[in-house]
Parts: sequence; structure tokens; C-alpha cells
Amino acid sequence: MHIKKQRLLTPGPTPLYPKALQAMMGSEIHHRTQDFRDLYSSVLGDLKAVLGTGHDVLMLASSGTGAMEAAVTNCFSPGDRVIVCSAGKFGERWVELTRAFGLEVLVLSAPYGSVVEPAALAQALAANPDVMGVFVQASESSTGAAHDVRAMGEMVQRTAAVFIVDAITGIGSMPLDIDRWGLDIVIGGSQKAFMLPPGLAFLSISPKAWERMESARLPRYYFDLQREKKSAAKGESSWTPAIALILGLAEVLRYVKTLGMDQLIDNAQQLAAATRAACGALGLELFAPFNPSGAVTAVKAPPGLSSSVIVREFHEKFGSIIADGQGEMAGRIFRIAHLGYYDIADLFALVAELELILIAHGVPVELGRGVAAVQEYYARQKQLATV
Ligand SMILES: *Cc1c(COP(=O)(O)O)cnc(C)c1O
Repeated sequence: MHIKKQRLLTPGPTPLYPKALQAMMGSEIHHRTQDFRDLYSSVLGDLKAVLGTGHDVLMLASSGTGAMEAAVTNCFSPGDRVIVCSAGKFGERWVELTRAFGLEVLVLSAPYGSVVEPAALAQALAANPDVMGVFVQASESSTGAAHDVRAMGEMVQRTAAVFIVDAITGIGSMPLDIDRWGLDIVIGGSQKAFMLPPGLAFLSISPKAWERMESARLPRYYFDLQREKKSAAKGESSWTPAIALILGLAEVLRYVKTLGMDQLIDNAQQLAAATRAACGALGLELFAPFNPSGAVTAVKAPPGLSSSVIVREFHEKFGSIIADGQGEMAGRIFRIAHLGYYDIADLFALVAELELILIAHGVPVELGRGVAAVQEYYARQKQLATV
């Protein structure tokens, strides 16, 4: 067999929405024109609708981490005490980022594969009434675990702290009721459920967070959210926007609005459930079995076989790109993504490939068992949908 199609199956970047790619080619537009202002305003409005929030929504030309940095520099003053709930590589990014800007950080950590329990946060908040902010990942993409941001938000809401949620893989893979749950800043990125190349970040910002920004004194310039809000009100961005990505985003938002955000979320969650069923059928262990994320499933490599070898063979044998573990997890887990433009056929192929790779390494699995589990899951869902 000589032809191998590339299939991008990582938790970011994710497969691109074809109509968005086509739209991106029309990017010969100037951003200080009425045409662009109309587009920008309508995209911000659609983004807000898709996120289901009444809060302000802003866009930045950066990867997701840029919006994380903006949340830190705009909401805090030097020496402010904050709590970071950390359960993986991205939680550690919050720790590094808040420390880099001179905040005093109390780290609530959970072992990789598990999550910080809301009860632990309740205790920390009670013991530290001066805390000005709480940071967490809705979905911790490095381990495939999801935090209970609803329970956490309801607690933080009763304090003076602002609740800052990295939902970069949470948006589009789990329900997030931003306004009711007290999620003050929610961060997203274009290369995850938004089916676009990397380069755009989004934030929703609550009235409580805006109020905090009035007194926050950390230095900021490019990522000045108050300035960005004023620009956005005029249909503009403060600096040259990522025009091509915004054209693509307009198409993606049209698609997601037609499909329904709840359906996009359900799609991810069903693919995640089917993936877990396939792993069970193949005797593979999940890395985060108790609080699994709908965005990505992390699977432990079977004994004696490195996940790096599995990831490499996906690419070499089948052209499929999946993710290895990050940092200390490299070689130990591989990660299969579900968020954004993924469908059940992607999963059929991926599980079939996985079986062939495992068998080639002498792992005792039976050809077709995992694929059958996905097929059975699919058939069961179809049946449920018709009764
Ligand atoms: C992808 C991702 C990020 C952002 O990373 P960038 O490379 O800056 O886009 C942050 N948090 C989580 C949970 C992610 O999955």
C-alpha cells in the first residue's frame, strides 16, 4: 500500500474545517475599513453566541498562552496572592506564568491523571481569605482529565477572587455555563475545537474581572484588555489583527451555530466514550479513568512498549499524527483527541491502526476487537437516537 493520507489527530492543532481554509484565502483586506469592521463585529458577536455568555468576548492575535498571560497581567498587581489548581503540564504553565509576573502563588496540586477536588479548593479559600485569583484548566490536555469548574466557580464566586479558566481544550468538549458558574475569564484558542490553524486566542471577561482591572497594576502593553475592549466596541482590534484566521473563524462559527454548540460538545464526548470502550476491549489502561475529558483521551502504553514508538508508527505506517505524553509523561502515554472537526470514521481508522501497531509488537490483542467496540458504541447511539 503506497498512499498514506495525513490525518491530524492531536489535541491541537486539530483538523481544519475546509470552508474556513477556503475563506482564509480571501484575506487581502485592510483592517481599518468598514468591510473589516463589519466582519470583526459580527465574528465577536457569533463567538459570544457560541460561548453562550453575556460577558464581553475579545480576540487576540496569539496562541492560547498569550491570552493566559493577558489574564494575569490585566487582573493582578505585584505580590497578589493567588491559587493555582495544577494537575498537569498546563497547570504548571499557570504556576510558571503567575510566578514570572511576581504573584505569590499557592499551588494546589494533584498527581498527573487525577484532578484537584473542589473540596481542596474550598479548604484553601477558607484558609486564605486574601486570595485575589484562582486559576485552573477546564480540561488538562496533558493528562486527559477534566476539572469540575462548575463546583469550583460556585465557590470562588462567593469570594473576592477572580476565577480564571484555561478552557483552551474545554470549549467545545464540555458544557461551560460561563455566566452562571462564575467563570470570570474563560480562555480559548483557534487550533483546538475551533478547527483553525493556531494564532488566535479568545477570552470572555465578566463584570467582576473588569472591575478588578481598574485597580490591577502589573505592566501590560500589547495585551491590554481594557484598550482592546474599547477597540472592539468600534469593530476594531488595537493592533493589526490575524485577518486570515478571522475570515476562517467566521466560517467555523457559522458551522457551529448551524450544528449547535451542544452537538459539537456531544460529538466530542461520544468520540471520547467510544475511545474508552475501544481501550477497554483491547485491555489498554486509561491514564485518567475517573474524570475523563471529552477533549482528549490519554492511554497508558502497554508494558514493554514505549508510547513514543506507538506515536511514531502511527505516523510512519499510516500517516496519522497522534500525541505522545508531554514532559515526564513522554514514552508512557499516548493521547487521542476528539475536539473540533473529528468524526466517527477518524476513530474507526485510528483504532484499526492502533490494533495493527500493538500486534506488530507482540501485544496480545485480537484484530478487530477495538474497532468492534467503536462500531457497537455507534450502533447503540443510533438506536437510542431513533427510539
Ligand atoms: C493547547 C493548550 C494551551 C495553549 O497552548 P498554546 O500553544 O499557547 O496555544 C493551553 N492550555 C491547554 C489546556 C491547552 O490544551
